[in-house]
Amino acid sequence: MNLPDLKKAKIRSLNQVEYKVQDYAFTRMFEGKKYFLRTYGCQMNEHDSEEMKGILEYYGMTPCEDLESADVILLNTCAIRENAHDKVFGYLGRIKHLKKEKPNVIVGIGGCMSQEESIVEEIRKRHPYVNFVFGTHNIHELGRLLIEASGDAHQDIEVYSKEGEVYEGVMYKRDSHITAWVNIIYGCDKFCTYCIVPYTRGKERSRKMKEIVKEVMDLKEQGYQEVTLLGQNVNAYGRDFKDGTEFSDLLEEVAKTGIPRVRFVTSHPWNFTDKMIDIIAKYENIMPYIHLPLQSGSSRILRLMGRRYTKEEYLSLFEKMKERIPNVSITTDIIVGFPGETESDFEETLDVVEKCKFDGAYTFIFSPREGTPAAKMKDETPLEEKEKRLQRLNERINLYSKESNEKLLNKVVPVLILGISEKDESKVYGYTDTMKLVNVEAPVDTIGEIISVKITDAKSFSLDGEQVKE
Ligand code: SF4
Repeated sequence: MNLPDLKKAKIRSLNQVEYKVQDYAFTRMFEGKKYFLRTYGCQMNEHDSEEMKGILEYYGMTPCEDLESADVILLNTCAIRENAHDKVFGYLGRIKHLKKEKPNVIVGIGGCMSQEESIVEEIRKRHPYVNFVFGTHNIHELGRLLIEASGDAHQDIEVYSKEGEVYEGVMYKRDSHITAWVNIIYGCDKFCTYCIVPYTRGKERSRKMKEIVKEVMDLKEQGYQEVTLLGQNVNAYGRDFKDGTEFSDLLEEVAKTGIPRVRFVTSHPWNFTDKMIDIIAKYENIMPYIHLPLQSGSSRILRLMGRRYTKEEYLSLFEKMKERIPNVSITTDIIVGFPGETESDFEETLDVVEKCKFDGAYTFIFSPREGTPAAKMKDETPLEEKEKRLQRLNERINLYSKESNEKLLNKVVPVLILGISEKDESKVYGYTDTMKLVNVEAPVDTIGEIISVKITDAKSFSLDGEQVKE
């Protein structure tokens, strides 16, 4: 039994990062069994789930779509927002009933929520039917936990609160054969005051460049069209090597592999260097799309958030990107109602939105995360007022998002086709180089290809188009 400890999770020592190779113990005891895996939260979690699936399928298990058919149920949880917590506990209600009918079903909970003391306490007290809880640092132990849970009714908690290592040789069962996530850096050392990630995912630790480039080369050889370099803060890449390596060096090496499309997510405005901008502009296969979280337009609130930049610095970085990267599209994240946010602070945010006219934005009402400094800050704004601010903000965001989509009307753009459109099964869907979703009139055999598409209609969140042969 290893219980999470937020104080321990906060430690950042000068210890060298340890590089290890994954060694998954093999067993045949789950052959032919079915697993159900539900993922909450960010792309990092999606990619962690690909590792979990890799392990489960290595043991001969197959996925199933419904809870009731599963022999193993795993929830890969998210700790960023309150509603993710609520959804997980709501879902556990369904699992509890199922466990009564099928007591041999193995239930495991992993992901960021597992790294939180209060959550694990709640699972121990109120959800004893959960067989095991594991964290973000020990996904590779999933096999051992499953074996131990078979035929054993006691609940096991194996969550480590540590800075973390870097593992190579991870087995992924990727969800797509066209686009792939590639981890480049784990953890975060920024400690923004509202964010739990530095506690749940450990310190910033970069994978070696040669391992990343090798992974991208392998993916290219397998026919992948696009990679997305993943990190909580990708532009911190290489700083832990302390040899002058920075993200732009990696980006350049990845671009040189010749894979058709390279993306990266997420960037912190604080250490986004000129060199990074130049490299993005220089290589045609680095997509002109940057997700650049603003969080607030008020320098006073940004200081309280611990974001390390001012409104003016954000705006000048934004301008520089727009000037130097042709056709770049920029999206953002904004938190409304951070403790102490006044109407005039909020208007500063609207002012930035007005100036930047973002291509899109994820907007949220602040929700306190236990154990973070912001959770203890005085918050006098009523929820009703925060909801009104969110609505006002979303109206602007949607307006500018639609405007930016309308600029593409009648233009021909490259679209990587990913599958059958969810809205209209006679169409396919894909993304432009600038990361805009397009539903396209084109044959099914274009899936996996980058095709030319003429845009025929523009909405706030998507575009319609038709394939053009050039
Ligand atoms: S940069 Fe800030 S918001 Fe992003 S993961 Fe790190 S602490 Fe959280």
